[in-house]
Amino acid sequence: MQAEPMTSKVVVITGASSGIGQATAIGLGGEGHQVVLAARRTDRLVDIAGKINADGGTAVARAVDVTDRGDVAALVDGVVSEFGKLDVFVNNAGIMPLSRLDALLVDEWNQMIDVNIRGLLHGIAAALPHFKRQAGGHFVTVASIGAHEVVATGAVYCASKYAAWAITEGLRLESDPSIRVTTISPGVVESELADSISDPTAQEAMRTYRAISIPADSIANAISYAIGQPPDVDVNEIIVRPAGQR
Ligand code: NDP
Repeated sequence: MQAEPMTSKVVVITGASSGIGQATAIGLGGEGHQVVLAARRTDRLVDIAGKINADGGTAVARAVDVTDRGDVAALVDGVVSEFGKLDVFVNNAGIMPLSRLDALLVDEWNQMIDVNIRGLLHGIAAALPHFKRQAGGHFVTVASIGAHEVVATGAVYCASKYAAWAITEGLRLESDPSIRVTTISPGVVESELADSISDPTAQEAMRTYRAISIPADSIANAISYAIGQPPDVDVNEIIVRPAGQR
């Protein structure tokens, strides 16, 4: 079975400066899509976009902080005026500063809520009006296996991913068939995600837990599959985890 014959799509990817976002930008850029890499570390974005362009692709780098609604709106409006359309918005930016609740790292709880939930909502708020006007578009949310099960030290992170799952499912239910909605839920994947953990106990636990990580390409491939389907086929969710992850 084949996916759709490739038509070049304009794809915005948040959190494209490392890990899953970077792999997705490189993968989709290599397939001929026009990719917009968005995150805060612009030096990284420029470097990754430069490599995609050097390999014959089309990529641009855009500074964005997803916790700032105005930033995300300006990103999307800028893309639509520059490329004439927006086909896919990949809500991927996320952080995971794990800790037990009794460590009371309240600032980190709030940061997770701001990036993983508010950031996602800002992406939807920015892109949805364009998708409705164009009568077409595709939202991809990078949630987590943490959207399906809670682990100790992951109460707030998992809550943010349950929320991401619920918001994305609600978006799917409310959308007319011209708008497709996909949740990708990764298991343990190689990336910089665990670097955001400041709590020493959670850091130590993660070292063992993450030893079985699979490459970020495995998630990029799932995103490519979802967006490559014919317009009447909506891949609603894909869970991708290491074969050894229980
Ligand atoms: P990384 O830490 O490698 O990437 C996270 C990305 O998010 C970075 O590009 C970072 O860019 C960006 N980001 C963080 N905060 C902001 C912000 N305020 N505004 C804009 N961008 C931001 O981790 P992953 O690649 O693993 O994470 C990608 C997604 O995958 C996350 O949503 C994560 O929860 C999810 N996930 C990852 C798993 C894993 O095992 N790796 C498992 C399950 C889900 P910058 O700092 O430059 O802004």
